[in-house]
Amino acid sequence: MDLNLPAYPATFTSRSQIARVATERWTEDNFYCPSCGYDLLPFPTGTRVYDFYSSLCAERFQLKSAQTMFSRRVLGANYEATMEVLMRDAFPSLIFLHYDRPRWVVEDLFVVHRACITTSCIVPRPPLSPKAERRGWRGYNIALDRIPQVGRIWVVNEGTVREKQEVLAQWKRTETLLNIKPERRGWTTDVLRCVENLPSTFTLDNMYSFETELARIHPDNHNIKAKIRQQLQVLRDLGLVEFTSPGKYRFKPQPDTKRDSRNV
Ligand SMILES: [Zn+2]
Repeated sequence: MDLNLPAYPATFTSRSQIARVATERWTEDNFYCPSCGYDLLPFPTGTRVYDFYSSLCAERFQLKSAQTMFSRRVLGANYEATMEVLMRDAFPSLIFLHYDRPRWVVEDLFVVHRACITTSCIVPRPPLSPKAERRGWRGYNIALDRIPQVGRIWVVNEGTVREKQEVLAQWKRTETLLNIKPERRGWTTDVLRCVENLPSTFTLDNMYSFETELARIHPDNHNIKAKIRQQLQVLRDLGLVEFTSPGKYRFKPQPDTKRDSRNV
């Protein structure tokens, strides 16, 4: 993988246009589908929501590139339309590309698997005011801090390229979450994220310490503890958590995901 961004035609003058074209070209030429490992192909210019697709497995991706590292919240577009796409399980996985402008290289790249982009991490923004041209229209933020680590698949980390086999293996592990219906998956990923923040063996009481945090994300649910227990069973059925004895659990991390403590 060549981390140098391609040169751009001298006819482009706007910085953002140059960066968009260069990072799109780079992705097509250097990155691969993290699901099957084959080439990524671009959708025609002007296609909404989707930027790339896999020629083999048909997974779809949207590219987000920036010259500063991504923070906890990333701006999205239309909230209502996005929720509709999410419920059809048609939202793309997101490729986050951070480039260094002076050196014109790719510095970081991670993919957020679509299985982990749930109703819990799509946070609506206040609707536009009645005086606005698009009154009532609502945008949203993607809360990156609500994506479980397993769904945040690093490919380039501070200029170091990860083995492709590791990327494909992490994708496969995350994919198992697609077995949960989109309307329920938010809870599963929220509880998984709590599990990831505990030591690999943990108790039910450890899990209950996240009650307040989970209640904040799910204000309509008034029995958070029962929900935690239910979702631990779901994670067990998916093969992500083991029940070792009554009230005791073990998280089965894939090597490498637990090690990644870098916060975005
Ligand atoms: Zn593919």
